[in-house]
Amino acid sequence: MRRKLAAGNWKMNGLGDALAELRALAATPAPQNTDILVCPPATLLSRASDIVKGTGVAIGGQDCHARACGAHTGDISADMLADAGARAVIIGHSERRDEHHEHDEHVRAKARAAWSSGLTAVICMGESLAEREADNTLDIIGGQLAGSIPDNATGENLVVAYEPIWAIGTGRVPTIAQIGEVHDFIRARLERRFGPGVGLSTRILYGGSVKPDNATEIFSVPNVDGALVGGASLTARDFRAIIDALSAA
Ligand code: PEP
Repeated sequence: MRRKLAAGNWKMNGLGDALAELRALAATPAPQNTDILVCPPATLLSRASDIVKGTGVAIGGQDCHARACGAHTGDISADMLADAGARAVIIGHSERRDEHHEHDEHVRAKARAAWSSGLTAVICMGESLAEREADNTLDIIGGQLAGSIPDNATGENLVVAYEPIWAIGTGRVPTIAQIGEVHDFIRARLERRFGPGVGLSTRILYGGSVKPDNATEIFSVPNVDGALVGGASLTARDFRAIIDALSAA
């Protein structure tokens, strides 16, 4: 009942020539059961949107400001993302939470802004290594879920991405049991807070060192509806291999 979703986060990578990878990705038809989202840097958004027009690939932003406009030098509003062709926006990535001191209340306000502009909010959460080792993972995720997601979530406007911080860009991946435990927990909390309609239709992505060679195993875990992919989304070949593994799972 939930469509699968492969989301690529290019982070601060990619000049104009990187769009060749997007062109190559969009040239192959998307699998019937899988949505594809690519979030390039803001400088490439408009060009990327033009490239994917009429294909199965959608474009997203990597962050937005909580306000619609105003004196916020260097920031981008959700309306601006939508105007540039974005359909979704990543919010609360651990790199934003860390480097830009974004807390749950900022993430929640940004999600509201995204929804006002008609964008799907891909809201990220995850524990640090110290929190994992102290056996606090579910408490941390429970707090971030409660604090980061506004009340009027739906299965269309919300995607949750579970991204253990220690797995991002490190090549370390939690065990299948660890991923399953957190995804089951998120599903149960979504159902409890929003009811079964929203709880069961919201997609939950895993993110953190997803690669072509571990994708099939990760996608075999119940309640993993897809992936948020950093490094491996930068090349069409690797991202396509992950998309194929997802659609076959
Ligand atoms: C990410 O940036 O969200 C991410 C999961 O990165 P990577 O796939 O490179 O670990």
